[in-house]
Amino acid sequence: MQILVVGAGVIGLAIARAAALAGHDVTVAEATGGIANGVSSRNSEVIHAGLYYPTDTLRALHCVRGRRMLYEFCAAHGVHNRKCGKLVVATNEAELAKVASILAQARKNGVEGVEMIGGNAARAMEAELSCIGALWSPETGIVDSHGYMRALWGELEDRGGMIAFETPVERLGYRAPQWHVEFGGRDPGAADFDAVINAAGLGAQSLARRIEGYPAAAVPRLVLGKGNYFGFAGRPVFSRLIYPTPIDGGLGVHVTLDLAGRMRFGPDVEWIAQENYAVDPRRAESFYARIRTYWPGLPDDSLVPDYAGIRPKLSGPGEGQADFLIAGPADHGLPRLVNLFGIESPGLTASLSLAEAVVKQLA
Ligand SMILES: Cc1cc2nc3c(=O)[nH]c(=O)nc-3n(C[C@H](O)[C@H](O)[C@H](O)COP(=O)(O)OP(=O)(O)OC[C@H]3O[C@@H](n4cnc5c(N)ncnc54)[C@H](O)[C@@H]3O)c2cc1C
Repeated sequence: MQILVVGAGVIGLAIARAAALAGHDVTVAEATGGIANGVSSRNSEVIHAGLYYPTDTLRALHCVRGRRMLYEFCAAHGVHNRKCGKLVVATNEAELAKVASILAQARKNGVEGVEMIGGNAARAMEAELSCIGALWSPETGIVDSHGYMRALWGELEDRGGMIAFETPVERLGYRAPQWHVEFGGRDPGAADFDAVINAAGLGAQSLARRIEGYPAAAVPRLVLGKGNYFGFAGRPVFSRLIYPTPIDGGLGVHVTLDLAGRMRFGPDVEWIAQENYAVDPRRAESFYARIRTYWPGLPDDSLVPDYAGIRPKLSGPGEGQADFLIAGPADHGLPRLVNLFGIESPGLTASLSLAEAVVKQLA
């Protein structure tokens, strides 16, 4: 089949590669001038183990499976990563109960090696930590996400696929037996494809509304959950990822590490109406308070505004976590069309597994 994938973020690239490996003729249309200019360049670069998500959700399934596939992919393609492990820490009895329920969920999800450890054992691993107990997850890690995406792009091209940059998809309609797709951008025009996959991230709903005959009720609402990060201006004190217990809409302000060992903190959850990426320095105050619950030694004036990302969420404040939504022909009634909505965390981790599932829907 001639397949058009809309969006060159980690999800579009993983799908395009999987489709090319399955023998299809693949084109990716990307609105901007490069790969990974959207959500995929503004995250924590954590390979999640799959601890939190309710069993049998797409997030649980594709996180656990995608994580195993991602480590294998990185090993095979020389993508820099580190399985540094993660501690989810409890600083009081109520949090201890929460951490115990995360442990039970993680085991149900089939996550390997998770265990509960006491405060002393946690401090033996990370001396600066203050907690009364913690969940230890040895399978969690960090990855050079840009290196990973470049490797996906390379394999796509090796299999004859290509990316058209500065090529926003404006609208599309089914003209049996093909999809007629109109492009804007530098070189506007139109082309026909056998199948279309909408992996447009924050633009997925807007594009779905421009698909002729797509049922309006089948386009979910888009909720923007901004996540702000602060860098740490000092020598790193942790060598593992440190997470508090989760909060409404996110995993809590955690310690993330990059592959050079630098520490940063975030993301928090800020519900916003319009896309914007500025980090308000005044948010530092709440970061100090939250981080000091598990790291009392955080020095004054050590946090500096870093960057922000926006989660393409399907649920708002107080509504509980929505699952990923992969809408195929059985959901909307149009042939050989798949829309991906709400691909927030753990989308990076889940990408290879999600990609296989999407390509199977086209078979
Ligand atoms: C703050 C934050 C932290 C996160 N941390 C993690 C983490 O640690 N681990 C993890 O596994 N996941 C994490 N995630 C989730 C992960 O980053 C996302 O799930 C993933 O990057 C989504 O990729 P995507 O390809 O769907 O979207 P994007 O990367 O946004 O790609 C979509 C692309 O589509 C293009 N586009 C849009 N409209 C059109 C159009 N009409 N025509 C052509 N192109 C179009 C855009 O320009 C963009 O390049 C995090 C997310 C956030 C926001």
